[in-house]
Amino acid sequence: MTFKAHRQEEILTDKFNRVIDYVRISVTDRCDFRCVYCMDDKMQFVPRAQLLTLEEIAKIAQVFTELGVKKIRITGGEPLIRRNVIKLFEYIGQLPRLGELVLTTNASQLTKLAQPLKDAGVKRINISLDSLNAEKFKRITRVGELDNVLAGIAAAAAVGFEKIKLNSVILKNRNDDEIIDLVRYASDRNMDISFIEEMPLGIIGDHDRAEAYYSSDQIKNDLEQFFTLVATTKTTGGPAKYYKLAETGTHVGFISPHSHNFCDQCNRVRLTCEGRLLLCLGQEHSVDLRKTLRAYPDDMDKLKQAIRDAMLIKPKGHDFDLTEKPLIFRHMNVTGG
Ligand code: SAM
Ligand code: SF4
Repeated sequence: MTFKAHRQEEILTDKFNRVIDYVRISVTDRCDFRCVYCMDDKMQFVPRAQLLTLEEIAKIAQVFTELGVKKIRITGGEPLIRRNVIKLFEYIGQLPRLGELVLTTNASQLTKLAQPLKDAGVKRINISLDSLNAEKFKRITRVGELDNVLAGIAAAAAVGFEKIKLNSVILKNRNDDEIIDLVRYASDRNMDISFIEEMPLGIIGDHDRAEAYYSSDQIKNDLEQFFTLVATTKTTGGPAKYYKLAETGTHVGFISPHSHNFCDQCNRVRLTCEGRLLLCLGQEHSVDLRKTLRAYPDDMDKLKQAIRDAMLIKPKGHDFDLTEKPLIFRHMNVTGG
C-alpha cells in the first residue's frame, strides 16, 4: 500500500512505512554564488526551457498538500534569484492544508525580499553562512560578498521571522577555526545554528572532499572546549540532532550523513527544478513529474497517482563514502539541498 486514509485525509507512506509529509522544492539550479562544496566553478545549468514554470511548481505543491504533505521548503540553487518567485511563495503560503512554508537561502537577496517573504507566510528560514571573514567567505563561495549577506541576515532578523537558523558546512583548513565565532554570532542574535557534514554530490574539479572532511564529532569536541552541550529531544522534522548550549540557550544541530546515518526516520522527498521527484538524496531513484504534468495539464489525479506510485521506489537509505568517486553525479544545487 502506498497510501491510506487518515481522519479522511490521505497520507503518503513508503514501503518501509515511513510517512512522507515533507517536500523540498528546488525552484532553480542557478545561483549567484559558487560554493566549492556545492558547484563546480564551470557549472552547466539546466536550459531554461527544461525548468518547471512557477505555475507548474505551484500545481505540484498543491497536489502534495492534498496528499498529506505538511511542510514545504523552497530551495535551489539560490531560490530568491528566480524571477517572480515571491508569487510562488504567496500561492503556496495560502494552501489550506499546509502546516509550514520554509526557505533555505544564501541571504544575498534578503535586504529586499525579507519583508515580502514574511508577508507571503514564510515562518522560518535557514540561511547558509560558512564564514564571518570576508576573504575566507569569498574563498568558500568563490564570488560571495560577506557584507551583503550579513546585511541580508540583519534584514531578516528585523522583519521578525519566527525562527532563523544558520547552516554552516565546516571544511578542514578553510573555516574550522570559525566554529566558535559562528556559534557566538548565532547566539548573539537569538538564532540557532546547524553544522552540515559535506556530502559527495557531483564531481568538483578543484575541491578534494575527503581532504576537507571535518566531522560533526570534531565540531562537537571543539565546541565543548567553550560551551556545555546538553542533549535535547528538539526536532524540526529534519535529520539534525540538537544540543542546547547551557551558557546561551542556543540550539546547535548536527546533520551527519556520514557519521550518523538518519535514513530510518526519513520523511521527505525532493523536487528538482526540472520536475524530477527524487526519492533519496543519496540515490538516483526518481520519477519524472514534469512529463505527467505536461501530458495531463488539467488532470491532477494523474499527478497524484504518479506521486503515490513513486513512494514504492523510495529506497531504504543512502551510503555515502567520501573516499570513493561520487556515486551521485548531480550537484547539490540541482538536488535542492
Ligand atoms: N543557495 C541556498 C543556500 O546556500 O542556502 C539554498 C540551496 S543550498 C544547495 C542548501 C544547503 O546545502 C546549503 O546550506 C549548503 O551549505 C548545503 N550544501 C550544498 N552542497 C553541499 C554538499 N555537497 N554537502 C553538504 N551540504 C551542502
Ligand atoms: Fe549557491 Fe547555496 Fe550552492 Fe552555495 S550552497 S553555490 S549558495 S546553491
